[in-house]
Amino acid sequence: MPPHLALIGAGITGTTLSIALTRRHIPHTVYEQAPHPTELGAGLGFGPNAARAMAIADPVLGAGETEPVWIEFLDGTADGGGVFAGFGEGHGAVHRAKWLGVLLGMVPGGVVQFGKRLEGVERLGGKVVLRFGDGTTAEADAVVGCDGVKSKVREIMVGGGEVEGARCGYSGKYAYRCMIPRELALEELGIERVEVSSLGMGHGRHVLTFPVGKPGGEQFLNLVAFVTDANKSWPSQDTKSFTLPATMEDALRDFEQRGFSKTIQKLLHLTKDKMDKWGLFDMADHPLPKFYSDGILVIGDAAHASTPHHGSGAGFCMEDVAVLASLLEEIHGCDVEPYDGLHEVFAAFDESRGERDQWLVHSSRRAAELYQWRLPDTGKEHFEAMRRDVETRQAVCWGIDLEKVIQEARVDLRRRRRAAK
Ligand SMILES: Cc1cc2nc3c(=O)[nH]c(=O)nc-3n(C[C@H](O)[C@H](O)[C@H](O)COP(=O)(O)OP(=O)(O)OC[C@H]3O[C@@H](n4cnc5c(N)ncnc54)[C@H](O)[C@@H]3O)c2cc1C
Repeated sequence: MPPHLALIGAGITGTTLSIALTRRHIPHTVYEQAPHPTELGAGLGFGPNAARAMAIADPVLGAGETEPVWIEFLDGTADGGGVFAGFGEGHGAVHRAKWLGVLLGMVPGGVVQFGKRLEGVERLGGKVVLRFGDGTTAEADAVVGCDGVKSKVREIMVGGGEVEGARCGYSGKYAYRCMIPRELALEELGIERVEVSSLGMGHGRHVLTFPVGKPGGEQFLNLVAFVTDANKSWPSQDTKSFTLPATMEDALRDFEQRGFSKTIQKLLHLTKDKMDKWGLFDMADHPLPKFYSDGILVIGDAAHASTPHHGSGAGFCMEDVAVLASLLEEIHGCDVEPYDGLHEVFAAFDESRGERDQWLVHSSRRAAELYQWRLPDTGKEHFEAMRRDVETRQAVCWGIDLEKVIQEARVDLRRRRRAAK
């Protein structure tokens, strides 16, 4: 029998992995804590790496939709054009909740079980037994934690909440998020600011906007306004909530007396009376030494939760999915003991992804410091040097040769399997 995998979490990572495994006929079940799909009504941007990874996960996901994408970096303290730009070929941006709906629609019925909050994992012989909050249990050959930034699977893997181990922490920045109806944004800002993704840089703050939706459907300008927190700690640690209610006035107050341009002020005035303020958490200070242990693997945000300053968190999750699905395909149908085969797959996955995923976590933090002119040699006088820095990082994010990486990971897996025999 081929190994049966338990995927925890039906977010973007878990659902895409399920699609990739379905295409490869690899048996699995997805367990999601929420009683029904939960995603935000916010925008999600994809770079070329994400587009390539999705095409590997399932050609249907990558089919014929790539288009030129670019982002214009603006001096947020002056009204005028961009100071430099980044270009690529990608999928543009999607509405998160709608996109997750599309993805879930591609998973065969019965594969995703909602209302199953994982509480514990026990190993029993070569199997794992999962314990859920509703009192039920399930058995699998291994667990893949796709359960996001607050991952329970990661907590179980590092030995429980009591132990000082890998976990996410507050990055010292938060973000206001809002989807502005396109018509409203057009009226106030004009076509260029609405159709071109842009990142307005400035002192201790930066503002990202990008268009979401296609003509004929609902269209928005997605706005994310990032703030360096003077408090350094997030108020709702105890409730474990990373979002707090906020208003337009809160955002305006945070951008007061920072010298931001009329365009940015106008943008902030288009936000809603009620919106969310997101604490940005990541694993930069407490990373996982490796992404797997006995019968357990974590991928996506569960493994390497990052701040969103490269706009690539989900893109790297897609890369994880492409690599893992390709490695599982390699052992699928082989006459190895499933459990042992999976161990080698998890090790090869970790070897392939570990360094790159950790790079994103650290580089994303640094990128925010750059956009907010909080590093030496940043700010108005240094746009050329900043452009080079941004371009170098973007090239790492977007330029991965994923086919080659997967081929190398496959070779590594074969070597590990030979050594294990
Ligand atoms: C402000 C902001 C903006 C961003 N913008 C971008 C962007 O433009 N582009 C980009 O590529 N990335 C972006 N990201 C990053 C991106 O959102 C994440 O990388 C991505 O959503 C992670 O997906 P995931 O499926 O791994 O985790 P999640 O989306 O967190 O999904 C985890 C799932 O697991 C479930 N779960 C959790 N615990 C359990 C449990 N115990 N039992 C069962 N189920 C459980 C949850 O309910 C959830 O459905 C942004 C992030 C932030 C914070």
